[in-house]
Amino acid sequence: MKSAIYPGSFDPVTLGHLDIIRRSAQLADHLIVGVLNNSTKKPLFSVEERVNMLKEVTKDLENVEIMSFQGLLVDFAREQNVQVIIRGLRAVTDFEYELAMSQTNRVANSDIDTIFLNTSLKYAYLSSSIVKEMAMYGGDIRKFVPAQIIDRVYEKYNIIR
Ligand code: ADP
Repeated sequence: MKSAIYPGSFDPVTLGHLDIIRRSAQLADHLIVGVLNNSTKKPLFSVEERVNMLKEVTKDLENVEIMSFQGLLVDFAREQNVQVIIRGLRAVTDFEYELAMSQTNRVANSDIDTIFLNTSLKYAYLSSSIVKEMAMYGGDIRKFVPAQIIDRVYEKYNIIR
């Protein structure tokens, strides 16, 4: 595979995301992690913060590039000249939505294919929302997010640990 895009909100990046990034970076020569800058969702971290955190935690991966995008993923893929989208699948509950999205994207641009990577079992339960919920109440998030960003998540909730 030449190039691929792994899109998401990454609010914040979790160890589950990082696992998909590492595995995708072995499958593709060049991997773009696309950070969605969607004005209708109110994220905890600004798009710049999310991009910077991803840059930090992927700095050892030479073929990984972090970019933000607005609007439709298919348009971003076309601009970047990329035909492959990567998504992670955790459970059957992800499947229905992801299937509909990938079919919609193919209708919008028939050159684009979506590849699904299953989650590593140890991260199957993990989501950015769970991280936020745990952090908000001062729970331990060390097993959920890369070490470099733990304090930044607590800071958002004014929690000192
Ligand atoms: P979105 O808002 O697009 O769902 P997310 O940042 O929540 O963005 O997720 C980005 C992608 O990573 C999605 O394909 C999602 O299914 C996948 N993903 C999220 N958490 C995990 C995990 N723990 N293991 C594997 N894939 C995951």
